[in-house]
Amino acid sequence: MRSIAPLLVLFLLHLCYRPVYSQKIFDVHLHGSKDPAGQLQQLGRAHVYKAALSTSWDQQVTYNDPKVKLLYGLMLPCPNGKVPYSLQPCYSNGAAWPGLAWTEAQIKAGKIDFIGEVLTQYFGIYPGDSSMLPYYALAVKYRLPVGIHTGGAGPNHGAPNFNLKLGNPLFVEPLIYRFPGLKYGSCMRETNITKRLLRS
Ligand SMILES: [Zn+2]
Repeated sequence: MRSIAPLLVLFLLHLCYRPVYSQKIFDVHLHGSKDPAGQLQQLGRAHVYKAALSTSWDQQVTYNDPKVKLLYGLMLPCPNGKVPYSLQPCYSNGAAWPGLAWTEAQIKAGKIDFIGEVLTQYFGIYPGDSSMLPYYALAVKYRLPVGIHTGGAGPNHGAPNFNLKLGNPLFVEPLIYRFPGLKYGSCMRETNITKRLLRS
């Protein structure tokens, strides 16, 4: 009978040098879906271990998954009180802005991990509009990151005051000087439009 030792050695070598696929992904900007459970399953299959979620306040609580760690955002200001595209109310009272005292209470309760998606462009105001400043101040106070939408938008967003010109990322620059501790990230869409805006 022939020895199987050489085959065994080859098999063990194969195990030792087999490439291990261990890429882990942090999805830094996740919009809500009509099917949160299905969306989370899809993320798990794509090796997403963490995701920063931006959707209506009520929908956020329906997101829960043992495999994907979720970071919960605070969406504001909401055009006509609604989340663009899905047009569900951002807040159950239909308001465009969350109250400041309420916001701070939610931060203290650990229910807000970041301020975003900031929808100033959809709302028709600059990211540095005076109405936004108290929220940035809260972000700095509690060391929360801020994600601001810049760039373009898709069709049927349902925001009547959306203004493409307000999506120039350079409009964020004064905020960085005004709030030196601000941890800022851009929820950017369509790099070609952004390039055009930067040149304009
Ligand atoms: Zn977005």
